Amino acid sequence: MSTAAPAIDTDRIRSLDAAHHWHPFTDTKALNAEGTRVIVKAEGSLLWDSKGNEILDGMAGLWCVNVGYGRKELAEAASRQMMALPYYNTFFKTTNVPATELAAKLAELTPDGLNYAFFANSGSEANDTIVRMVRHFWQLRGKPNKKTLISREFAYHGSTMIATSLGGMTAMHAQVDMPLPGFSHIRPPYFVRDGGNMTEEEFGIAAAQALEDRIQELGADTIAAFIAEPIQGAGGVIIPPASYFPEIQRICRNHDILFIVDEVITGFGRTGNWFASQTFDLQPDMMTLAKGLSSGYAPISAVMVGERVAKTLIEEGGEFYHGFTYSGHPVACAVALENLRIIEAEGLVERARSDTGPYLQDGLRSLADHPLVGEVRGVGMIGALELVKDKDGPVFFDPIGRVGTICRDHCFANNLVMRAVRDAMVCSPPLVITRPEIDRLVSTLKLC
Ligand code: PLP
Repeated sequence: MSTAAPAIDTDRIRSLDAAHHWHPFTDTKALNAEGTRVIVKAEGSLLWDSKGNEILDGMAGLWCVNVGYGRKELAEAASRQMMALPYYNTFFKTTNVPATELAAKLAELTPDGLNYAFFANSGSEANDTIVRMVRHFWQLRGKPNKKTLISREFAYHGSTMIATSLGGMTAMHAQVDMPLPGFSHIRPPYFVRDGGNMTEEEFGIAAAQALEDRIQELGADTIAAFIAEPIQGAGGVIIPPASYFPEIQRICRNHDILFIVDEVITGFGRTGNWFASQTFDLQPDMMTLAKGLSSGYAPISAVMVGERVAKTLIEEGGEFYHGFTYSGHPVACAVALENLRIIEAEGLVERARSDTGPYLQDGLRSLADHPLVGEVRGVGMIGALELVKDKDGPVFFDPIGRVGTICRDHCFANNLVMRAVRDAMVCSPPLVITRPEIDRLVSTLKLC
C-alpha cells in the first residue's frame, strides 16, 4: 500500500474549516488559532494527514473502528445495497432484508432474552429511545410515577438533551441548565480516586450502596431504571471492581427497577467478549449499541429490548410513537452485517481476549513504574493510565486535566492519537492493531 497522501491544499482546507466548519465538542476559537489537522486516509490502525504524516490511531476513531480502516468488503456491501435498495422506511408495514437479518443476528449475539432490536442512527438516539421505552413500560404496568432514571457521574450517554441529562458530565449540564427533571446521578466505582483505605472488593459494594441510598431517598415507586456503561469510557475508562455489578443487579431486582447497559463503547469485542455484559456477567433488561456495530463505517445504533419490556410494550402498548426516518436504514444495516461477519471470520473477539488484548494490557502495565502513573487499568482492548502528581496517596493534579491535556497533545504531536479524560490517558485501538503497533503506542506514551 502506498502511504503517500493524496495531494491536498492543506492551507485552503484549514482556512475554509476555520471560516465555516463548527466542530463538535470543540473550543472553536482555540482551534482556529491553532489550525486543524486534515486527515485524508486510513488503513488498519493508521491514519495519514494531508502533510503525509503517518499517525497511529490509539482510539479507533471515537472508540468505534473495531475492524480497522480500509475495509473494502464494507464499501462493497454498502455499494451493493445502494444499488439494490438505497433507502426505504420501516414505518408502514414494510421491512428490508438487511434490517431484518441484522435484528436477528443481534438477538443471537447479545445475552439471552434481548430478542428485539429497535434501530436508530447514533448512541444518543438509542439512549433517548430507552428513556421513552422505559417510561411507557411503567405506564402500561400501572406505575406511571416510575419515571426517574438513575445514572452515574462521569457517565456519557450522548449529546441530545435527553442523553445529556441521562449522562453525568457536569460541564455539559452546566452550559444548558441540565439535567432535565427525571434524571438522577450517583457516584461511579472510581477506585483510585475514591477507594481510600478500602479493598477493591469493599469499595465495589460501597459504590453500589450509593444506588440503594438514592432509591431510599427518592422512593422505589418513582424510579424507572438504572443505566450504566459496564466500563465508563468517556468518563475515563473506569473499571468496576468485581463486587460492584452483582450488588447493583441485586438492588435493581429487589426494588423492581429496570437494569440497562449502555454498550455503545464496550460492545463488539472491545472487552474480549462480544459484549461487556458477558465479561461482567450482566443480565440487562435492555442494552444500547452503536459504534462497533458498523465499526463507524455507517451511522447506526440499536436498542436491544428484553422479553419483559418487549412483551408489555408490544402486547399492550399499541403504536409506539417514536422512530427515525433512517431507523433500519438498509445500507447501514448491510454494512453492520458485513462488519459482524468480519469480526466473526477473523476471530477479532478472541484476539482481544487472548492475544493483542493481553499484550496491550501488559504494555500499559509496563509503564506502572513511571513517576506520573498512579494506576494502570484496562480490559481487553481498552485501557487507561491515571496520571498523578504523587503516587503516594495518590495525590491528583490541580488543576485537574492540565497534565492529561499536555500528555495527549504530546502524543498527537508524535503521531499517536490518545485521549485525555481529566488526567487519565485512555486508549481503545482498533481490534486489528498489531503487536508492533502496540509497542509503538506504549513507547510513544512513555516519552511523555
Ligand atoms: N453511549 C456511550 C457509552 C458513548 O460513549 C457514546 C459516545 O461516545 C454515546 C452513548 C453517544 O453516541 P453518539 O455519539 O453516537 O450519539
